Amino acid sequence: MKSLIIKNGLVYDPLKKIDGEKKEIHIKEGVVVDKVNGDAKIIDASGMIIMPGGVDIHTHIAGTKVNAGRQFRPDDKLEEYNEKKTKLTRSGTGWSVPSTWVTGYRYARLGYTTVVEPAMPLLKARHTHEEFLNIPILDKAAIPLLGNNWFVMEFIKNKEYDKLAAYIAWILKITKGYGIKIVNPGGVENWAWGKNVSSLDDNVFHFEVTPREILEGLTTANEKLGLPHTIHVHANNLGHPGNKEHTIETFKAVEKIDAKKGRETNLHLTHCQFNAYGGSNWGNFESGAADIAEYLAKHKNITIDAGQVVFGKSATTTMTADGPWEFALHHLGGTSNWGVRPGIKWINGQVEGESGSGIVPYFFNPKVAVNAVQWAIGLELMLLTKNPWQIFMTTDHPNGGPFTSYPQILRWLMDKKSRDDVLLNMCSKKASEKTELKDIDREFTLNEICIVTRGGTAKCLGMVDRGHLGVGAIGDVAIYKLDPDKADGHAIEKAFSLAAYTIKDGQIVVKDGEITATPMGTTICAEGKVKDGIMESMLEDVKSHWRDHYSINFNNYGVEDAYTPKLKVVSRV
Ligand SMILES: [Zn+2]
Repeated sequence: MKSLIIKNGLVYDPLKKIDGEKKEIHIKEGVVVDKVNGDAKIIDASGMIIMPGGVDIHTHIAGTKVNAGRQFRPDDKLEEYNEKKTKLTRSGTGWSVPSTWVTGYRYARLGYTTVVEPAMPLLKARHTHEEFLNIPILDKAAIPLLGNNWFVMEFIKNKEYDKLAAYIAWILKITKGYGIKIVNPGGVENWAWGKNVSSLDDNVFHFEVTPREILEGLTTANEKLGLPHTIHVHANNLGHPGNKEHTIETFKAVEKIDAKKGRETNLHLTHCQFNAYGGSNWGNFESGAADIAEYLAKHKNITIDAGQVVFGKSATTTMTADGPWEFALHHLGGTSNWGVRPGIKWINGQVEGESGSGIVPYFFNPKVAVNAVQWAIGLELMLLTKNPWQIFMTTDHPNGGPFTSYPQILRWLMDKKSRDDVLLNMCSKKASEKTELKDIDREFTLNEICIVTRGGTAKCLGMVDRGHLGVGAIGDVAIYKLDPDKADGHAIEKAFSLAAYTIKDGQIVVKDGEITATPMGTTICAEGKVKDGIMESMLEDVKSHWRDHYSINFNNYGVEDAYTPKLKVVSRV
């Protein structure tokens, strides 16, 4: 592959403390180097800004529930979302749940090069990796679901923390996973009995453990193993009025657990917008974003991502391992693009003794008070959190809306006028009354945008080879046509919608918004360190209970190496 030199652009690279400086980027054999000697392709980035490739920390793009979502939503495949086959690309469709191939193209066009699927059921890991193989260009990681797993709860109940850590290490290896995902800890197991949990100290049926013990146990195991990322938590009570108290309780549960050396954080709470609600019912529903931001300002060990809601002209497809929440949402219903339809269609799934899931189409309508307040809360979280290294931009794709809405969100973050236009002219007036959004003047700088979309996410994930453009980083670069001095709302949205160039491992994959190459991405896994001898005794326990817990043979459980032809394993450093 020819070396590459990018000249004359303004570089934003917050991890390397570079804030809009004219600087050359040199890439040789897919890696950023100090200087390329000899023959190289030159990109003239005059009038453009240069950032590392985007890193999405939380996006549901692959696996069984995503695929069920595709089948569930024929109405998501409107003609305007169809993408025609070209000499290089395959055809595909879909707005909120796009086809696998199209997912790769659309992310690449936005300048993203790494994505994390945050909810992989262990037993369905093979399907997730099969879809990863169908998503070109991007590097991908998947986080296995462990917060309602029978073995996990059994080890926690018996206080066998070394075995718990060994179990996690084994699961990461055989599912080719990246970290520990916890969804509504204990609540999804109770949902198998038609119930849920509503506090950190509720009981999980038949296991005699609590959500608090699950959180503490898995955080301890995560840090014992020295995994690159923290635990990745979808908290209990998601979507319910007043849940901000519970969210802060969740933060407090890990306050006293030391993070591994070299990482100051120990908990990432995902799509926090859905867990930042005040009030006590839908009538007095209000924002709790300020309280969350205040806690974050005092506690550097926590990171969150936004889970921003966007308003589309059709319903998005909500999907989560939080089965009981989807049941509640199915009954809330609300308005859809087919009119007012409470109790719209719903899928519920159960994955043996491991996890559950649910899917419901949902239309976020700016005229509906609750939806308008939700929209404002997501932006409040982003704008009130002072330290951008603690909060990242997501929509919890496709839950709050599809990832293709990111340019619109960047516009709202960088331009008060643009967000005020939506707040004051489109939204129910409750969005102004029940949140502080109209009084917030902050506008994100390009440096801050770079943190919340790549620098900060890569750091939080512990992926040290990306999110920056320092020597040794992978050659993933996004170049946008934008003059920082003339960046009004329209120009911002336009620039981030179609990258002038996206470069993956030193290869130009997008030019002027068109796909120019479709290389296979790398699957990124993590590896933990366990004490000698523990792995064998843990596996003896697991095998002795296997037949009571699983419908498949132990030897058929693991994902074969053939599913990850390009694999990168992040080991403890
Ligand atoms: Zn999610």
